[in-house]
Amino acid sequence: MCGSYLDWRTSPYVLPYAIGLAFTVIQGNCSAPGNGHRGSERYGYDFDMPIGTEFIAIRAGVVVHVEESHSDGQIAPTGLDNYIVIRHDDGSHALYGHLTRSGALVTQGDLVSQTQTIGRSGNTGNTNNIPHLHVSVHACDPVTTGSTACPSQPITFRNTTANPNGLQQGQRYTALP
Ligand SMILES: [Zn+2]
Repeated sequence: MCGSYLDWRTSPYVLPYAIGLAFTVIQGNCSAPGNGHRGSERYGYDFDMPIGTEFIAIRAGVVVHVEESHSDGQIAPTGLDNYIVIRHDDGSHALYGHLTRSGALVTQGDLVSQTQTIGRSGNTGNTNNIPHLHVSVHACDPVTTGSTACPSQPITFRNTTANPNGLQQGQRYTALP
């Protein structure tokens, strides 16, 4: 079941790319069987970004994990994923996944502001060999605790077109001021 989205107009989150840019959501929330956004991962979003695309922080916080040692194309389901995890002031954590090799522009312990450029997207981990940026927000740290214990949470974005039920798969969203 997918639901309980906060009002998108007052959401604490902005899209993970700079104002004026637009990307398509190639996998939304609560995807069909056989896709990755199910169970505790059901509130993830995948943005159709070419390898090397710079992305930004959807919310301010502290960098708690950085993994950038893996190479693009290491795409097994158990794959070697590059990622950044940022803890927000309410204890939630944003996970940015599938970064390109050496694609982190921040290091553990950094304080990042909302909209700060933090990394470059890629094709590492379980991507189905489609380069994209995965973004999800979890109740706690999904790396140390595991996403089953820290399930993803439904989020909306305030700086784009109306998204009362979150971003919709197949739709292209422009980041607005
Ligand atoms: Zn994903």
